[in-house]
Amino acid sequence: MKRLITLALCLFSATATYAQTQVIAHRGFHATQNSYDNTISSLKHAQELGVYGSEVDINETKDGKLIAIHGARHRSIPNVQNENFATIRELPLTNGEIVPTLDEYLEQAKKSKVTKLIIEIKSHPTPEQESRVVKNILAAVKKYKMRKKVEYIAFSKYVCDELVKYAPKGTQIAYLNGDLTPAQCKEEGYTGIDYNLNTLKKHPEWIKQCHDLGMTVNVWTVNDTADMQWFIDQGVDYITTDNPLELNRLLGK
Ligand code: MG
Repeated sequence: MKRLITLALCLFSATATYAQTQVIAHRGFHATQNSYDNTISSLKHAQELGVYGSEVDINETKDGKLIAIHGARHRSIPNVQNENFATIRELPLTNGEIVPTLDEYLEQAKKSKVTKLIIEIKSHPTPEQESRVVKNILAAVKKYKMRKKVEYIAFSKYVCDELVKYAPKGTQIAYLNGDLTPAQCKEEGYTGIDYNLNTLKKHPEWIKQCHDLGMTVNVWTVNDTADMQWFIDQGVDYITTDNPLELNRLLGK
């Protein structure tokens, strides 16, 4: 009986460890020290916190440069995808930092042994462009030998499908758009869902369905303490937040 109880306790603690929700800093940890989202400093701050992941948005400029910026608007530019890199680079962000390139971002990401880079590939107007963006991002990640430290997310189903086709086996690919069930995502070869908090509150059953299918659940963008606690209690794998300090506190980190 004693052995049975010990075994049960071991199993419980193994499950509890496995189920611990992980923190992803939305656009890096930018809400600190005069930082700004998607900058090198926001990535550094996320790395200093030692969170599981630091998310970044990647767009392609008119002249084919991959840059870390949310877009579409940047300062006086209505859409960064329709502007040349040099012009975007000339206009610093409001905290004084320049808009980083994907290469510069990967260079910094490589410095952490802990924090993964969660690359959100933004939607682009044509399938040809999205294919090119996916292939160029995969090539850059390969060049920096970061394949095991990068995960991908996208709203565009086409982008996710291209990732399934061209990314190395075992690459983490999560769909953002919220309009597919876990079974449909599994069918497409995605490894997880990364849905808006309201979508997952409407479909809390999708969390268990994902886990039963061997998929991960990420939720964005959770900044309210009560919401954070609710999703921790639901056992989601990742919470994406602008406030990683508060989430760390709730998780006892
Ligand atoms: Mg994003």
